[in-house]
Amino acid sequence: MLANKTAVVTGSTSGIGLGCARAFAAQGANVVINGLGDADEIEQTRAAIEADFGVRCNYSPANMLHGEEIAGMISDAEKAFGSVDILVNNAGIQHVSPLDEFPIEKWDAIIAINLSSAFHAIRAALPGMKERGWGRVINTASAHALVASPYKAAYVAAKHGVAGLTKTVALEVAEQGITVNAICPGYVWTPLVEAQIPDTMKARNMTEEEVKKDVMLKAQPTKEFVTVDQVAGYAVFLCSDTASAITGSIMPIDGGWTAQ
Ligand code: NAD
Repeated sequence: MLANKTAVVTGSTSGIGLGCARAFAAQGANVVINGLGDADEIEQTRAAIEADFGVRCNYSPANMLHGEEIAGMISDAEKAFGSVDILVNNAGIQHVSPLDEFPIEKWDAIIAINLSSAFHAIRAALPGMKERGWGRVINTASAHALVASPYKAAYVAAKHGVAGLTKTVALEVAEQGITVNAICPGYVWTPLVEAQIPDTMKARNMTEEEVKKDVMLKAQPTKEFVTVDQVAGYAVFLCSDTASAITGSIMPIDGGWTAQ
């Protein structure tokens, strides 16, 4: 479905971003992965995408804290592959703290990585998409783009900001064949989440099932984690022709969390 398209996915060295990159590659797209991590592991991840799907995959080390590196990532992708047709703004970090103790540098980093990086990447990618009359921008937001939780001020503010950015850009390019949407996952089963389970079991004297249901999934009515593949499948759908009328949408995939 995506042969001859190029997808740039920020924050795709693990978790949801990597799932999206692999799902686009499975549809025939060339992909640019990006993110932090061990250089050898990143190279293995990159090479596996090429080997598994027979597409080309480049790695961009652009740090989502820096606008000029983000613009460079987009122009390098355009030079290497001829276009950036699909852009997934997915990189994100979290910090949990009461507001009056919230470290200022954490606030600045979360706003930069979770919100401003999407602005910089979209700004750089739009001219090419406009020229070709086709584009898909998908912002990985969160259920926290729609509802809040205490102690996550920067994350919730950034994700609500992503929702506003999504709607605004969607309106600006609505007649140019470009759709702009936000996917809003609830709790997704990523290695990051899985790694927290043993410590929580010990600290609370709970079974694995109790930790998942009564701690992590307290707010998620299905009491099931969303999977990376489900989020990636949603992103692939948004790139299809069937989804061309979906734009400016802030789309929950959250097991009913935001229905409450
Ligand atoms: P993850 O930690 O597995 O992935 C985050 C990615 O962002 C990694 O590739 C990391 O290297 C990259 N990254 C972090 N800082 C960066 C920087 N300065 N420059 C470049 N890359 C950077 O986490 P995930 O769970 O896959 O999260 C991906 C996105 O999904 C985030 O935006 C997150 O807020 C959102 N999300 C996750 C969940 C969940 O439950 N896992 C739920 C809702 C939304």
